[in-house]
Order: sequence, then structure tokens, then C-alpha cells
Amino acid sequence: MDWKLKKICANILEKETGYIKKIWGEYNTVCLAYPNRYSIGMTNLGFQTVYKIFNDQPSFLCERVFLPASGNDARFVSGTAGIVSLENQKSITEFDILAFSVSFENDYPNILKIINLAKIPLLAKDRSGKNPLIIGGGIALTLNPEPLADFFDVFILGEIEEVLPRFCSKFEEARRFGYGRKQFLKDTQESLNNIYVPSLYEVNYSTENKIQSMKPREDGLPQKIKIKRVKNINAFPTEEVISAPRTEMEDMFLVEVNRGCARGCRFCAAGFVYRPVRLRGIAEILESVNRGLKKKKKIGLIGTAVSDHPDLKNICKYIIAKKAQTGLGSLRIDQINESVVEIIRDGGIETVALAPEAGSQRMRDVLGKGITEEDIIHATELLAVKDISNIRLYFMIGLPGEDEKDIDAIIELTKKIQHHIRSKFEGKKKFRRVTLSINQFIPKPFTPFQWCSLDNVNIAGRKIRKIKDAFRRDKQIRIIHDVPKWNYVQTLLSQGDRQVGKILLAVNRLEGNWAKALKEVNINPDFYVYRQKQFDEILPWDIIDIGVSPQMLISECKKAMKII
Ligand code: SF4
Repeated sequence: MDWKLKKICANILEKETGYIKKIWGEYNTVCLAYPNRYSIGMTNLGFQTVYKIFNDQPSFLCERVFLPASGNDARFVSGTAGIVSLENQKSITEFDILAFSVSFENDYPNILKIINLAKIPLLAKDRSGKNPLIIGGGIALTLNPEPLADFFDVFILGEIEEVLPRFCSKFEEARRFGYGRKQFLKDTQESLNNIYVPSLYEVNYSTENKIQSMKPREDGLPQKIKIKRVKNINAFPTEEVISAPRTEMEDMFLVEVNRGCARGCRFCAAGFVYRPVRLRGIAEILESVNRGLKKKKKIGLIGTAVSDHPDLKNICKYIIAKKAQTGLGSLRIDQINESVVEIIRDGGIETVALAPEAGSQRMRDVLGKGITEEDIIHATELLAVKDISNIRLYFMIGLPGEDEKDIDAIIELTKKIQHHIRSKFEGKKKFRRVTLSINQFIPKPFTPFQWCSLDNVNIAGRKIRKIKDAFRRDKQIRIIHDVPKWNYVQTLLSQGDRQVGKILLAVNRLEGNWAKALKEVNINPDFYVYRQKQFDEILPWDIIDIGVSPQMLISECKKAMKII
């Protein structure tokens, strides 16, 4: 073992609290990989939850790896040792299972990078029972695992709290009785919900490259992968497990307060796939808060729609009474009122994020946002009156049916908000800034806009520049935005089928050179990115039954199109 590597790992562990280090021995071993840097992975509550669930199984041991980064403490890799786990510095090949927790499509190339670094064959068909079983889960894979179908042995889709322990029991049983990998995979597919073994399903394509059929290769397998959700989220206190240094939220202890959102904004995958709304009870949340307060002075409340929690005010008041601070994600504009803002301010929150999403009422109606310009102005004014001096506003461009006037409307609405805030701040301490976060609309599976195409990258770039130019000399308005070319990649991976896996292989071989990979592989990426799909088409994720009715999605899409 490279002593430098050992020292790097020891240094990181020394600064963490809450990690679990079991003695390497008779356990079933899982190497849990986050396909990005340590500082990003350790702020992901889903990743931490999987780590805890695996380690909670008495016969399992779970350790972490991250995408190696040269020049910092999260390297975990050397020329000879390959990529190693943080806790016991074991090479990935020594583990029984390599599990990926995947939240973002643009991390897919990093998955292949990690498998490669571990010197494991990339394609599932080239691996044997001697290689770790490669499994994957997380929101990105739940929405559409197909581009990664050739690389994974098993996907565990949806909420994992209930299914993961059952999967572990199955794995243990297979080992005990000496079942081979093939038999284990088939048994697991047949008997557990939320499980998808892609090699057991066959996809056929038409001459136009559209999917003609997706079906099981053998009798007895489910026709569709049924996703079940956790009924009682109180049974699983989803909260920070490991407090880690030098991460984006190192000062904040994260606590989940709810799952699901009933609002149904037509672009929002979280609003559909986490249905129905489930709330953690205030007693359970406060228990988590109390555990958090023993570690940190700031509690980050997270969930699909945090401000919809009916006890939010009381939870915040409790945290404030303990002389600690609260952190909240973005707040629903129509729920901002005087008492909410006072709680926010007293909780020490300096920046509040709101999501108007669109500048014009027409576009907000297309999205099904359910808010008016009056609501937006009123909310920002209230924040200003109560001295919240940093406001972040989320807007989207490239929406279905958008035209130039809708981009102008973002600029006009921002100017109006700025004017109203300034007037409220007159004679008081200086209002600091409004940050506009401009994101391109990306059509996501299981939403009413899943059939839509991405706005052309050049046009999206021009729209962003127009908004930036409008505020170029204005120091109070800061603009941050995503990069259209990466949105193209994200859409390709979000909308892609199994064929897109060939592009990922080329990207891996060409060390991340997407332009070259797209030229080399004989697959037209525009087919996935810029094509408006038909309602009667089979989409790559149609193999998954997420519990959202396709008829409802079609009806919502048609409602939006009527407004356009
Ligand atoms: S955008 Fe927010 S409010 Fe709308 S559905 Fe998604 S989580 Fe709910």
C-alpha cells in the first residue's frame, strides 16, 4: 500500500465524524462510489443514506470511493494502487459489490472512469462472478437508466430504504447457497420490486431507430419494473450521517423534512416521481435536529418542497430557540408571508432563493407554476422589508413555446423587482444583491414535458447573453448560468436509450472528448436531443412503472400546448 495514499485517507477520516469503519473480515463488502469529487458527494444525503443502510445490515460492510482528483485530499488513487476505498484503503476489486449513487446525468462518464481505474471490464457481459457486482441507484438512474444498461449488473430504482435491505438478504442468501451470479440476478429480478437487471430485458428498434419493443428475455420476469415508494418516511430518519470537512455544506447538518410535492409543475421530475406527498412528523424532525445540534450550529432543512411542511415555522422557531441557525432550500413564492420571513431572518438566513421560473405570465401558466407577478413582487418586497439583503431568483430559458418576448419579460421582471426592493431599502442599510440563476429547460422523463425537445444550444446561448447584457453595468444584479453545451449532453443522457451507451464508451476511450466521441460514433445525438417525440412512441424509460399515469402526463402536456 502506497503510504502517501494511506496518509491522505487517514487525514480525511480524522476530520470526519460519523463514518463507519468495520474490521475487514467475514462481511459481504460494498464499495459505495460517488461519481464526482469528495466535496460534492459528501453533501449528498442520498449517498450518505445508502452508506448507512448498507452498514446497518449486520453482515455487510460499506466503504466509500470518489472520483479521484489530483492535487487535493480526495485523490484516493495512485499509479500502482489503483483506486482505493477511504475507510480501509482497499482496492475496488477486493469488494463483492461496487455500488454507484447517481444524482446527475453529467456524472455518467465518471462512472466509467471509476470502473476503468479499478481495472474492471466496463461491459457487464464481459464480467464474471470474480468481478464485483456493479449496482446503481439514485434519481438520475430512476428517471432513465437505459444509457447505462450495458455497464450495470443491477439497478435499484426509486426510494431505497425498504428495498435495499431485502436486496442485501438476497445477496447473502445467494452466497450462502452458492448460487451463481446469473441465478442471483434472475431470482432478484423476479422477486423484488424496484429492481432492474437490464441484461434480462431485450430492446428492439425500428428502421427509424425508434424503440419498437422492450420486453423480458425469459418467462416469469415482470413486464415492467414496478417502483414502490416508502409509505412511512418517519421510519427512516434521513439525516446527515457523516459530517465532512471542506464540503459545500460543511457548517450545516442536513435533515429531510418531506418527500413529494403536490404542485405538479410540468417540467419538474421531482414533483412527479416522489409522489405522493409524505411529511416527516415534527417529533421525528426535532429528534434529528437535536442530533444535529450536538454536531453543528446550523440545521439545513431539505425536501422536495420544504416550505409546504405545515410545521416549518415551529421547527425553525425550535432551532432559533436553541441559538442555532436554519438553512432552507428554495421557498415557494406563494408561501412567503410576514411571519415566514421573520422566521427566516431570525434563523440567520441571509440569502433566500425563490423560483419564478419564467418572466411572463403566459410561460408561468405553460409551466403550471400557479403564481402571478404580484405574488413574486410581494414576496421579494417582504424579504426586503425584513432586511433579507441577498435574493436569488431561478429562471428557466428554452421552455416549450417560448419566444423573444418571454426572454424580455425575465429582464423586465428583474428590473421591477429591483425597483421595488430599492424603494423598500431606502434610508436603511444597503440592499446587497439579486442573483439571477438562469438554467436551460431540460426535458425530463416522467414529466408532462418528457416529449419536448431541447432548445438549440446556440439559441439558448444567445438568450443567456441577452439577459447578461441587460445587466452588464448593474452591480446589484449578478447572473449565473449553466453552459448550453453541457445541457445538450445532459439531455442526451436523460433522453437516451441503450444505443447512447456506445457514445459513453467512446467518451471514456477518448478521455472525455465529447466532440470527438460524437463524431466517431455512428449515432445521431440530435435524434434524442432536438426531436419532439410522439405521444404513442415507446420511450426508453417506459420499461419502468413509476406509478404516474401516462394519460395524466399526456393530458397535462396538452393543457400546456393549448396555452402556447
Ligand atoms: S418545481 Fe417545486 S413546487 Fe413545482 S413541482 Fe417541483 S418541487 Fe413542487
